Amino acid sequence: MKSDDISMLPKELCELPAAAAARPTRAEAELAVRTLIRWAGDDPDREGLIGTPDRVVRAYEEFFAGYEQDPVEILARTFEETDGYDEIVLLRDIRLESHCEHHMVPIIGKAHVAYLPDKRVVGISKLARVLEVYARRLQIQEKLTAQVANTINDVLQPKGVAVVIEAAHHCMTTRGVHKPGITMVTSRMLGVFRDDPATRREFLGLIHNGGHGLLNV
Ligand SMILES: [Zn+2]
Repeated sequence: MKSDDISMLPKELCELPAAAAARPTRAEAELAVRTLIRWAGDDPDREGLIGTPDRVVRAYEEFFAGYEQDPVEILARTFEETDGYDEIVLLRDIRLESHCEHHMVPIIGKAHVAYLPDKRVVGISKLARVLEVYARRLQIQEKLTAQVANTINDVLQPKGVAVVIEAAHHCMTTRGVHKPGITMVTSRMLGVFRDDPATRREFLGLIHNGGHGLLNV
């Protein structure tokens, strides 16, 4: 820690624990934000930016909270008293907020998550929570879609799982090719949703029925 650059910084930012092995400290993370501000061409010590490294690191704690959470645990509690319910359970239009792992900018969209239970069901909010845990990590949409479907499939062992995600990638809309209004659609179908065309058709019919359903709430 003898570099000139670091010795210019406030004392608390220089006091790094000896064993800062795996995860950097908050101070190191704030220092990295200061560096990026300087790289962008601004002065991290001017009034408007003085609190920015702290705010960015706090925002990152929210954006990337999914690394601390276990999606398998979320699905652990299931219910078996379903009176023989054996139709599709679908959670439609779940708001999706994630970050692309190539540019660390937002991926914003919606997800539809369905499964066909085999005796066991979960509380429906748990399906949205599983999506949220994986979304709060650095992602590509294809992997996110597969992770959500695979986890539900592995833990609940239903007759099938279907996940469709439609999202806009800010790395495409605000930089690079600058193509706003484009959404990317990914899907992962497992079990009966993959093997039985009628079940898959029913699912796709349900998700495309947005706005014309029984409940416009
Ligand atoms: Zn990207």
